Amino acid sequence: MSRSERQMDWPAIELRGVSRDFGGENSTIGRLAIKAGLRKPARTVQAVDNVDLTVKRGEVVGLVGESGCGKSTLGRVAAGLIRPSGGQVHWGGVDSGSMSGSEYRQARLNVQMVFQNPYDALNRRLRVRNIIADAPAYHGKIPEGRGKDAINRFVDEQLREVRLNPGDKERYPHQFSGGQRQRVAIARALAVQPGFLVCDESVAALDVSIQAQIINLLMDLRERHDLGILFISHDLSVVEHISDRVAIMYLGSIVEEGPVEQLFANPQHPYTRALLDQMPRIETSKRQFFSIKGELPSPYDKPGGCAFHTRCPHAMARCLTERPELRKVARGQRSACHLNEAEVPLPSQVA
Ligand code: SF4
Repeated sequence: MSRSERQMDWPAIELRGVSRDFGGENSTIGRLAIKAGLRKPARTVQAVDNVDLTVKRGEVVGLVGESGCGKSTLGRVAAGLIRPSGGQVHWGGVDSGSMSGSEYRQARLNVQMVFQNPYDALNRRLRVRNIIADAPAYHGKIPEGRGKDAINRFVDEQLREVRLNPGDKERYPHQFSGGQRQRVAIARALAVQPGFLVCDESVAALDVSIQAQIINLLMDLRERHDLGILFISHDLSVVEHISDRVAIMYLGSIVEEGPVEQLFANPQHPYTRALLDQMPRIETSKRQFFSIKGELPSPYDKPGGCAFHTRCPHAMARCLTERPELRKVARGQRSACHLNEAEVPLPSQVA
């Protein structure tokens, strides 16, 4: 049995100092051309910058931030779809970067992704039977083997898990509604018996009533399979409902994290506070994220010091040059703001 197989009952996924860059010159010829002055160096962007984050089995961690903040990239790194440029992704205590190619591919089955748009994520030319059964059959994860009856029984079981009709296995993705397609995508993810899901805006494209059904389904599956879920969303209302812990991301970095009730009741970072101040309340029929004042700076041109200083109403001289560390501000809660170091309340907290 390989090392990755022994680790499939992982207690946690841990991201340790993870960074991920895009762009730049990767080929040797390109690097030589740049060295010889024949080509200008391509610009690189650091989509994820030195992130520590842990997701335990049975735990839902919400990852929140504006569009373009790097949260989807971080999710893909956690799921092993892309490798980090720096830092380590530990799956069950083992550095995934130290695994051989076959160990890595085997281990990656244990972290499955559910994307925003299942229509793009599902192969439109395949029947649901194949969408669900092909990967587990290939990896030997269908308990009764690869016979036609065994596969049918397996697919029926997977469809019942996500509350679809076994008869749906003969249909194609275009014959389902958006909510049903997302159920098929979840069934496909679960078919290889993962311990973890990375849900990347998985309910964002659905109507509010369908969102609630999919969230309830995910919660139910979490209970039944002890799933660890990294739930990526721009929607704080959904994250509050589903998560045990929340991490707030800004321009590639986690700026605050903590238990959901505590963080929502007592946010310590100005960015978290701004997001919460603009959070639509439950009675609002169409939940929407409203961007805080000012534009998110380009990740190509990240501000120095505290990256939030260009939009922060409390920015001081020091914030322009000195990057604040994520530091403990309460039990289980960490925040990256110089104001927390002084242990004074944020100006807006003073009555
Ligand atoms: Fe605002 Fe400064 Fe705190 Fe950054 S470190 S959030 S700029 S007060």
